[in-house]
Amino acid sequence: MTRVGVVAVQGNVSEHAGAVERAARAADTEAEVVEIRRSGLVPDCDALVLPGGESTTISRLLRSEGMDDEIRAHAAAEKPVLATCAGLIVASRDAKDERVATLDLVDATVDRNAFGRQKDSFEAVVDVTGLDEPFPAVFIRAPLVDEVGDATVLARWGDAPVVVRDGPVVGTSFHPELTPDDRIHRLALFE
Ligand code: GLN
Repeated sequence: MTRVGVVAVQGNVSEHAGAVERAARAADTEAEVVEIRRSGLVPDCDALVLPGGESTTISRLLRSEGMDDEIRAHAAAEKPVLATCAGLIVASRDAKDERVATLDLVDATVDRNAFGRQKDSFEAVVDVTGLDEPFPAVFIRAPLVDEVGDATVLARWGDAPVVVRDGPVVGTSFHPELTPDDRIHRLALFE
């Protein structure tokens, strides 16, 4: 049984929980989803999801609830993390916004709302390394990943990296929980 914590300070928590359960079934394993709103629960999780929302709010709440250090320790122990949209902003090395205290789990910098300035939300089909068919990606005020250091780009939209992996952490600019396709959750959490 894999215990997957969905950080539930904000964002599409139930959609992520559903995607985690589907992904676990597809990977022929069992998962228990735990919603995380306070410190003390992350240490018991085998894998974590950091959903989207508003990165300034998420980072403030992670810090005030004392969950930031727990999430850092989880990743340092090589346990999987899927960070989506604002979750990726928070997980990045630098969001270039002093209101976002980043966790520095993914060696990349991000530009908040970079896509949003051009286009608020859109869908695109992206090729992801490790998936045999393209993935339907839903972008909502999405961050642009700009400087990638010691992380691997798994997908691009045009020139822009939109899926990156740094060790146990997979970050997406888009919202994989908003489609019935659970392959990103599977790739990040169960492979
Ligand atoms: N633009 C938001 C932020 O900066 C992220 C949007 C999202 O998670 N859909 O936090």
